[in-house]
Amino acid sequence: MKKAAHGIALITGGSRGIGAAIARALAQDGFDIWLNYRTDTEAAARVAEAVRAAGRRCRLTPFDVTDAQAMEACLTPLLEDHAPHVLVNNAGFTKDVLMAWMTPSEWKSVLSVSLDGFFLVTKAVLTAMLRKRRGRIINIVSTSGETGMPGQVNYSAAKAGLIGATKALAAEVAKRNVLVNAVSPGFIQTDMTAKLPEERILPTIPMGRFGLPEEVAAVVSFLCSKRAAYITGQVIGVNGGVHM
Ligand code: NDP
Repeated sequence: MKKAAHGIALITGGSRGIGAAIARALAQDGFDIWLNYRTDTEAAARVAEAVRAAGRRCRLTPFDVTDAQAMEACLTPLLEDHAPHVLVNNAGFTKDVLMAWMTPSEWKSVLSVSLDGFFLVTKAVLTAMLRKRRGRIINIVSTSGETGMPGQVNYSAAKAGLIGATKALAAEVAKRNVLVNAVSPGFIQTDMTAKLPEERILPTIPMGRFGLPEEVAAVVSFLCSKRAAYITGQVIGVNGGVHM
């Protein structure tokens, strides 16, 4: 096995979809991967196999990003010996319903994965990044958080909040060479969008198609590279022109 050229990348929600594509891309770039997910161990094991096929190490780090105790139990022992260079806060989920019918739990659960997840996992790795004066944090947000989307008041609020957190943290830690950016996908082909009515959505996308997880991962890969050394606090859309 080749020595990781770039250190460790911790990716939350990496068992499927966009997170899995990011894990594969960063492994190709030379990162060892810490792959977080919540439940789908079989899917995570397949991603780990792909990472190992690229010649990198993959450690499965399953925990619910909203569960501080589970997160600490999993990450604290690892962080004693290692400091990830990259954190991708990708875990996210939707519970779409019109505001008039939204329950407190539908509101809180969606906010919690995006915002508590960001807070807990970022805080866990940030001190080590600041100490080393080296780090890249990428938050996966959404067009929904930039424009607002009917039926997604909870999700739009969660992702808009994460955009605010991205910019505030970027300003706090820039001097320590820790760069914080957001990548904002439009409609991407994953389990999350599998049940959406394509025939209604496609005409709203200037490029006329859904994006691929790999097309989001390519931007994350760039933001984690030396070529992106002067980019921080930005929200980069990968959306086929659906929001300009
Ligand atoms: P998927 O539903 O395909 O995958 C979600 C991933 O997140 C899974 O690995 C899942 O793990 C994990 N996950 C969910 N909740 C938690 C949790 N509480 N703790 C840890 N892991 C969790 O989603 P996508 O790949 O489509 O989305 C990835 C990110 O991109 C999300 O933040 C999403 O909001 C964002 N996004 C997606 C878009 C799209 O069109 N697909 C558009 C814009 C943004 P497990 O299966 O083990 O539960």
